[in-house]
Amino acid sequence: MSGRSKKYESQIKTKESHHYFFLNPYEDMAFTRCPKCEEKTKIRKHCLVIHVEPKFLASINKSCRYCSKCDLIIVKQTDLERLLVTICEQNAPDTIGNEYLVFGTMDRKDWKNGLTGKISQQEAIKRTYPFKDVWKFEVSPGGWYPEKQVEA
Ligand SMILES: [Zn+2]
Repeated sequence: MSGRSKKYESQIKTKESHHYFFLNPYEDMAFTRCPKCEEKTKIRKHCLVIHVEPKFLASINKSCRYCSKCDLIIVKQTDLERLLVTICEQNAPDTIGNEYLVFGTMDRKDWKNGLTGKISQQEAIKRTYPFKDVWKFEVSPGGWYPEKQVEA
């Protein structure tokens, strides 16, 4: 019986998840109202953590649309990509145009420490709060469509 000498795995502990996220692909939609609950959204700064293929970690402190009721962060894709290009140009120019994933947020102080190199990328990942979920919203463009099939 050696139950008491149970070894703890060197666990990479990720933080608890925070927020829902929506990357807004619509250039002409500001989402001043939440696409889910239609409440007015506010502007809030969030430190977004973005993984760029193959292995560059970018963090951006950015004003985002935010619905406090749904805990939903909305970021315009074109705005994000513009910032991402700037960061990649300075830090990892060969990753520009690669696939990327916005996977969470981090505290402002951790973001600062990451910028100044006080914490490593590995450490930064550990301090990231992953999103609870990533949502997608379809916006119906104006105009007419073929009639949808109505279920009886
Ligand atoms: Zn909402």
